[in-house]
Amino acid sequence: MAKITLDNLAHSYFPAPKSEDDFALKELNHDWVDGEAYALLGASGCGKSTLLNIISGLLHPSQGRILFNDQDVTYAPTAERNIAQVFQFPVVYDTMTVRDNLAFPLRNRGADPNYVASRVQQIGKMIGMEAELDRKARGLTADAKQKISLGRGMVREDVNALLFDEPLTVIDPHMKWELRTQLKSLHHEFGHTMIYVTHDQTEALTFADKVVVMYDGRVVQIGTPQELFERPAHTFVGYFIGSPGMNVFDAKIDGATAQIAGVEVPLGAGYKPACGKLQVGVRPEYVKVTADGTGVPARVLRVEDVGRHKIVRLEIDGAQLSAIAGEGDVIPEMNPHVTFDPEGINVYADDWRVAPAGEAA
Ligand code: ADP
Ligand code: MG
Repeated sequence: MAKITLDNLAHSYFPAPKSEDDFALKELNHDWVDGEAYALLGASGCGKSTLLNIISGLLHPSQGRILFNDQDVTYAPTAERNIAQVFQFPVVYDTMTVRDNLAFPLRNRGADPNYVASRVQQIGKMIGMEAELDRKARGLTADAKQKISLGRGMVREDVNALLFDEPLTVIDPHMKWELRTQLKSLHHEFGHTMIYVTHDQTEALTFADKVVVMYDGRVVQIGTPQELFERPAHTFVGYFIGSPGMNVFDAKIDGATAQIAGVEVPLGAGYKPACGKLQVGVRPEYVKVTADGTGVPARVLRVEDVGRHKIVRLEIDGAQLSAIAGEGDVIPEMNPHVTFDPEGINVYADDWRVAPAGEAA
C-alpha cells in the first residue's frame, strides 16, 4: 500500500502546448494518503481518466513527478507500480473460464495454488458469480464481464493502490449498489489506497472518505462530503453537488451584509473588501419562502413535489433560484419573499470562495 504524491503534475496531449487551455490536466500538487478511499468526481471530459492513467503509468505526464511512498515512479512501467486498475468497459479473456480470469493476476505473480483457489472462490462470491466460475467468459453479458473485471481488480491483496475508472457504467442499478458496498467493505478489510472515478455525485459521496472534485482540468476542491456541501470552494462544486445545486447570485458585499436585488441580507460572518465578480452562494436547503414580507421579493415559478419535501422554483430580480420546503409547508401565493439562513451563505469572488475574516485558511 502506498502514499501517492503528485508533484507539480500537469499533462497536455499536444506535443507543444501553448497556453493553459492546451492542458487536459492543469498543474496539480497533492498527496493521496495511504489507505484512504477517494472519489474523483467531475463532468465528462474534465481530466479524470487522464489523471488516473498517469497514476497507473499508462500515460507519462508532460510535466512534474509522481511518487509512491516518496519514490519517484514517473517513468516506471505500469507493472512495476503494482497497481490494480479497472476500466469503464470490461477487459476479460474470452477463451478463459471465469475462474481462470479471476486467477490470472495471482498466477501471474506465482501465488500458491491453494491460496489462488480459495481467493478466487471468495472473489467469485463477492461479485455474485460463484455459480458461473467454470463457464467461459465468451457469451457472457457485458454486465457479467464487467463483474469479472472488477473481481480481477480486487483479487490481489498486496497492491499499492486500486484504481477504478467509472467501473459501474455498464452494471444494472441494483447490482451497482451491491458492488459499491462490496468495494467499501473491501476497503475496510484491506485498507488499500483507492481512487474511484465517477461523474455521479451519489456514487462519489457514498463511496469515499474524501472527494476530489475536478472541473476543466483542475482540482477545485478536496474534502469530505460535508465540506463539499457546506463550504463549496468553487461555484462549480456548489452547482455540481446537491440536488438541486447551490443558488448563486450577484451581490454587493459590505462587511457582514450582502445586497441582493437591492435588499440587505445578513451574512453569517464579516468579509474584508474583495475584488472581482462578487456573488453569494446559498443552497436550497437554506432558502426559506416567507409570506410576511421579510427578505427579498420573489416570484414563485412552480412547486415540485418530490416525496419527502418540495422544491420551490423561484425568481428574484431576473435570477432563478430553488428552495427546499417541508412536505407540509404552505407556499404563499400572495407577495412571496425569500430569506436565507446566514450560516448557509458563502461569498465568491470570480467563482472562488472567499474566506470570511477570521476563518482559518
Ligand atoms: P474524463 O475522464 O474526465 O471524461 P479525460 O481525461 O478522458 O476526461 O479527458 C480530458 C480531456 O483530454 C478531454 O478534453 C479529452 O478530449 C482530452 N483527451 C483525452 N484523451 C486524449 C487523447 N488520447 N488525445 C488527445 N486528447 C485527449
Ligand atoms: Mg474518463
